[in-house]
Amino acid sequence: MNVVTEIALLREEITSWKKEEHSIGLVPTMGFLHEGHLSLVREARTRCDKLVTSIFVNPLQFGANEDLDRYPKTLQRDTQLLEREGVDLLFCPQPAAMYQKGFQTSVTLGEIASNLCGSSRPGHFEGVATVVCKLFNLISPDIAVFGQKDYQQLMIIQQLVEDLNFPVEIIGCPIVREPDGLAMSSRNKYLTDAERKEAVRLYKALIQARQMIEEQGICPSVQVKRSVQDMIEESPLCRVDYVAVVNAQTLSPVERAKQGDIIAVAVFLNKTRLIDNMLL
Ligand code: AMP
Repeated sequence: MNVVTEIALLREEITSWKKEEHSIGLVPTMGFLHEGHLSLVREARTRCDKLVTSIFVNPLQFGANEDLDRYPKTLQRDTQLLEREGVDLLFCPQPAAMYQKGFQTSVTLGEIASNLCGSSRPGHFEGVATVVCKLFNLISPDIAVFGQKDYQQLMIIQQLVEDLNFPVEIIGCPIVREPDGLAMSSRNKYLTDAERKEAVRLYKALIQARQMIEEQGICPSVQVKRSVQDMIEESPLCRVDYVAVVNAQTLSPVERAKQGDIIAVAVFLNKTRLIDNMLL
């Protein structure tokens, strides 16, 4: 596996692959890889000739009081894992290489980024969209794979690709979970043992919501959201940031929850913010 930090070297490799008419796949990540990330890599591996994974903790998508400075970095271990999965190139630039002095352009997003994490983390998705556009321009992938764990991010990127005419197919992969149901996340590492025990409430509450819809068919969203919030906040360690029932495509809130909608949650355990979602 070729490990590249410089943009010029990345471009050289991409150009030579394109000349040989190889199809290219991309899996963007922020590193500290777990089985969730590796599931995307495995999916991408089956769909392209040459596979690029990026590891870049993108400062543009972190708010002032978020965890940019303490975000875990394990590049050596990540490199070994990606090598084992048959990745061809790991792109791991320094922030200064991605955002050169004087950088001042960014992507603006509409409605789709306005609620859920978009309202809790102002500027976050603009930062994500901007870095993803840069990666698409640098790598020209034929396919790019993202996780449904970040469901709003996946929908925003699909919209962005359509709106800005990127010739790339976006593939969404299912959420990979720990044996007890907690969605795998790099941020789970921040949890104390006591918080980790309570964190499974996110999953359990979503399952309960799904059961409500299975049993009752259509159900007022307020009722579903209330049951999720109550179950999570039964623990004094958990503080709900949001619970929402939204249309799976537009992400607009729905009055009446039904099969095919998405229920999404964000929860603080002390300073650690976890997200999860489920198709009803
Ligand atoms: P991150 O490193 O957190 O930026 O995530 C990189 C990619 O991995 C994103 O497309 C995420 O949606 C995806 N991802 C993260 N956790 C999971 C998970 N538990 N299951 C599936 N995909 C995931």
